[in-house]
Amino acid sequence: MSVKICTFGELVVEFLAKEQNQRFDQDGEFLGPFPSGAPAIFADQVAKLGFPVVFFSCVGKDAFGRMCIKRLEKDGVIIDGITSHSKANTGSTFVTYKGMNERDFIFNIPNSACGLLSFNHINEKLLKNCTHLHVMGSSLYSFRAIDAMRKALDIIKGSGGTISFDPNLRKEMFDIQEMEQSFDYIMEYTDIFLPSENEVSYFAHNIGESEPQIMYGLLKKGIKHIVVKKGAQGANYYGYDKYHNYQMIHMDGYMTNAIDPTGAGDCFDATFVSLLLAGYSVKKALQYANASGALAVSKIGPMEGTPTLAEIEAFLSKVTLK
Ligand code: ATP
Ligand code: MG
Repeated sequence: MSVKICTFGELVVEFLAKEQNQRFDQDGEFLGPFPSGAPAIFADQVAKLGFPVVFFSCVGKDAFGRMCIKRLEKDGVIIDGITSHSKANTGSTFVTYKGMNERDFIFNIPNSACGLLSFNHINEKLLKNCTHLHVMGSSLYSFRAIDAMRKALDIIKGSGGTISFDPNLRKEMFDIQEMEQSFDYIMEYTDIFLPSENEVSYFAHNIGESEPQIMYGLLKKGIKHIVVKKGAQGANYYGYDKYHNYQMIHMDGYMTNAIDPTGAGDCFDATFVSLLLAGYSVKKALQYANASGALAVSKIGPMEGTPTLAEIEAFLSKVTLK
């Protein structure tokens, strides 16, 4: 059976501060609205690569919601799992950069249409057609969303499917207690784990453990593939080779003109997961994922840089490693 990937969570519009260090408490200009939301970017990237993907979410019955759905549909995402709610408006996020590596967000998610997302919105027929579920930690913003995640996870795992998980922690969301508590549960089911470098220590069992020690511990607990994303430095892979020997692979990032890093991690996740599930080797999946992240950061807007397979291959044929 061919793999059908699904994901769920926030579908929002994003407004990007025009100037670096632009403050949220002063007058300023913003670019946007851009369709956004980590799982939405993930789904868009899977579709752009040419693989079937179902996205479960909620938007309001407003122009922002219609714009988001239209974009995902145009790019090939199966949009039947997106509910247009009359009770709330489409969610939004505002982002401002302080240099290339630091940014602040204002999220309007819990009180928006996608904040209402619950298992009731997940069409079980559509879900049961899928063989892989990707979970974004940023999508676990309410008890309802966590409940939906648990049920979806049980259904996918129960029918022999696989799970990928990106914690995608945002300091602005740290006060959502349920979110952190649900991580242990997901980790038990995770086959492919895709943290950022700065999230690694969160998964340590002992104080002072190094990245390889933490990852080795997680592999022993049953996770099959781990990729630690390292921005411009590329990524580290931890897993087992075909002889079942522990292996670590570092893959350098590619030179690119980085102008908007939001969305790179989501594009990376989507490319690595889609290609690995499609039977590509770990090395090739990593290489393509690095290229997809590099292409994503070179365009303004979170979902504007999602490349096709042909665009990734064209990029790889002329790039230089960092
Ligand atoms: P976020 O903090 O948004 O969740 P992330 O940690 O999930 O991000 P990053 O490590 O920022 O993801 O980026 C994912 C991948 O995109 C990197 O592993 C790399 O392949 C590519 N990438 C990101 N930034 C750059 C850059 N400046 N130059 C080249 N490649 C990049
Ligand atoms: Mg991320």
